Amino acid sequence: MPDARHDFAEVAVALPVHPVYTYAVPDRFQNALAVGMRVLVPFGHRKVTGYVLGFADKVPDKKIKQILDMPDPEPLFPVNMVPFFQWMARYYKHPVGETIKTALPGGLNQYEFLSVRVLAAGREALEQDIVSPAERDILQILENRDKGVLLKQLDDLSGGKPRRALVARIERKGWVSTEKQLRGGGTRHLTAKYVRLREDPTLSLRKNPGPVKEQLLSTIDKAGEISVDDLKVHSRHAARHVKELEELGLVASVCKKEFRDPLGAPIQRDTPPELNREQKTVVSNVLENLSDGFRAYLLAGVTGSGKTEVYLRLAAEVVGLGKSVLVLTPEIALISQMVRRFRARFGDSLSILHSGLSDGERLDQWVRIKSGLVDIAIGARSAIFAPFENPGLIIVDEEHDTSYKQDARFRYNARDLAVVRAKQCRCSVVLGSATPSLQSYHNVKVGKFAELTLKKRIENRPLAEIAVVDLRENKGAKGVGRFFTPQLAQAMEKTLERKEQVLLFLNRRGFASYPVCSVCGQAMRCKNCEITLTLHKSFNAYQCHFCGYSMASSSPCPNCGATRIVQLGMGTEKIEEAAKKIFPRAQTVRMDRDTTRRKGSLGKILKDLRDGNIDILVGTQMVAKGHDFPNITLVGIVCADLSLGFPDFRAGERTFQLLAQVAGRAGRGQMPGQVVLQTYNPSHYSITAAKEQDFLRFYNQEIVFRKALSYPPFSRLAQLAISGRDKKETGRFAQSFGELLLRLQAADPEFVRHVEILGPIEAPLAKIDGNYRWQVLLKGLKTAPLHAFVNLLVHRHHEWFDNRRIKVAVDVDPYFML
Ligand code: ADP
Ligand code: ZN
Repeated sequence: MPDARHDFAEVAVALPVHPVYTYAVPDRFQNALAVGMRVLVPFGHRKVTGYVLGFADKVPDKKIKQILDMPDPEPLFPVNMVPFFQWMARYYKHPVGETIKTALPGGLNQYEFLSVRVLAAGREALEQDIVSPAERDILQILENRDKGVLLKQLDDLSGGKPRRALVARIERKGWVSTEKQLRGGGTRHLTAKYVRLREDPTLSLRKNPGPVKEQLLSTIDKAGEISVDDLKVHSRHAARHVKELEELGLVASVCKKEFRDPLGAPIQRDTPPELNREQKTVVSNVLENLSDGFRAYLLAGVTGSGKTEVYLRLAAEVVGLGKSVLVLTPEIALISQMVRRFRARFGDSLSILHSGLSDGERLDQWVRIKSGLVDIAIGARSAIFAPFENPGLIIVDEEHDTSYKQDARFRYNARDLAVVRAKQCRCSVVLGSATPSLQSYHNVKVGKFAELTLKKRIENRPLAEIAVVDLRENKGAKGVGRFFTPQLAQAMEKTLERKEQVLLFLNRRGFASYPVCSVCGQAMRCKNCEITLTLHKSFNAYQCHFCGYSMASSSPCPNCGATRIVQLGMGTEKIEEAAKKIFPRAQTVRMDRDTTRRKGSLGKILKDLRDGNIDILVGTQMVAKGHDFPNITLVGIVCADLSLGFPDFRAGERTFQLLAQVAGRAGRGQMPGQVVLQTYNPSHYSITAAKEQDFLRFYNQEIVFRKALSYPPFSRLAQLAISGRDKKETGRFAQSFGELLLRLQAADPEFVRHVEILGPIEAPLAKIDGNYRWQVLLKGLKTAPLHAFVNLLVHRHHEWFDNRRIKVAVDVDPYFML
């Protein structure tokens, strides 16, 4: 509640505009309006949703519009998030209102849309055929839609062209009418109806309600207050009876907020194990400084060293202090594993946030957190926006994982934001990983993060033995021998004999990743993207892994029409087939994006694996991440090199992390594990470091290379990604955009000295989904001038970003530069 009268409010509107606007607060909202609330405000000729970021008592001398409405009784986010949103908007160059909108549960906002309806004169014109072809298009669409069509939909229905001007013209002719409508805002709290007996039922005593109602009345009387849903156990028509009882004045009802529960069945509580020495040291280190304000830690602990147990202990302490805990994990499958551990320790009073929730479920979780009903929230990257009033600890598990980077619309990195939020809330943040990112370890080296280490696995279980097998020596092999060297095949055989489980890893899905026409020699390519298609036998189709385009597997070569296509290259499907061929009696199951698309299918694979119904699991990087598979004793890395050849300065880092993580899946249970790693580059340092599972050794080599080329962490990057549907136009745009950058740079010696402009160049993936792509990379050895340069571009040259046909996206600290 505001403590004093405020005449003006600072409002961020949920539109792609950067400034924050000032609106007058009408008298009727004086007592209720608070920071964090949603408001409806006039903007241009529309009404839009905005968020109150602050108040002002004076404004510059100009015409100020009034706030129109205040849809919620309470703020949607706490005051401490205002600087967080402002920081994100400033750093990632994203409009602040849109930043907030991204953070909030979806579907809350109302927007005003123009709706178009055909009039009698329009129908007549159509009948008399006195219309132009474009006019006919529109009128025909409207003809069968009496309720009218939103202008946006009309654009889509008539081939994606903007129709505003045309609609205005035929409106002047009297053929159509337009009207503004508020749409959206469909996400609501779930409410349930509760009833109790009225205290003064005298006026109806003489009426006899009948036996069913009598019974309901006595149930209600016993319960004191009960939901209508619960009454349905007693009578199928409880809702109707309750309504009649209400009319008789015998009962009173209230509606209460209810929360949709995504947690499912309860879980058995565990007892915390005694921590080992290393764990104790780590925990007490963090606890000692817990009330000391901001601290950032990097917890580097080998796989299976008990990091999660450390998180649980820290969380218990922080909750005990009356503060809340936010836990981030890279993706949904790992959330459920983390949630199981936390529920076993803390019960069901925790909140889960991820993209698999419906808007309604997300809203419920949001409200539970905001109103202090839970102390712990666990979620994927977007959980960094959880509206805690008083966070005491933020945990980022598997901090090296690139899925913390959001790569569309609002481009942010949740791992980095965790540190920012912790700093703003003056609390601790723990980033944990067995294979820390180069960035985070560098932060340890320069003293920004404190290092915590767990060097040993729990109970001194040994790390898996890794045997590197040189694929160059396997050149002449035929049949399945091409995928499984004798070393790997023998290890598989022995493991299966012992009734233990095998994991085969290959970082590419599908059957053949390089189908080539045997007549003309051309590779089969996607017609929307400049890349080769992958054959998926299980779908009988070639598929593009970027845009989803697919083509029947019987298709002839699009180039010469020949039908003899050779299937070169491999994918998990081919490995699955090969494994079934040499071990026909083993249960072989594949886990990749193709087999886990349906809801629940991933859970089923993980359960079958736990229950011992799977002997060989074939998978992509999906299996590499943090899963605890206690019965897997052999990991076969079919080809370690696939990610090394990427034209990206982080290729070596990703390869090391991936291999070390996959290797870490072996021998997590009581039995020791082994790994067979097949590679064409046995002496590459990413591979030798992965063999030793030696993060430091990798770091020491890689950091030299980063320094020599001034790549992060020795510089900052910002990428400007340009894309458009017309090849020539996009190329020309990229060229003139490049010239603009050079002009801006030349005008300021600070930029000349500190900002390096690389490009514009055609992107390595030059065409995706029908879009031609160019990019410019900006590099700065210092952060400030680089950001000043991008700010200048975004704020002063906004017209370059408003082009309808060509999009320019700003990606600060980019990860994917293909
Ligand atoms: P990480 O997160 O580093 O992979 P976990 O915390 O999952 O490691 O620990 C690996 C296994 O060891 C888990 O099954 C966990 O329950 C168990 N564990 C962790 N700490 C202890 C401990 N102090 N004593 C006994 N078992 C432990
Ligand atoms: Zn494609």
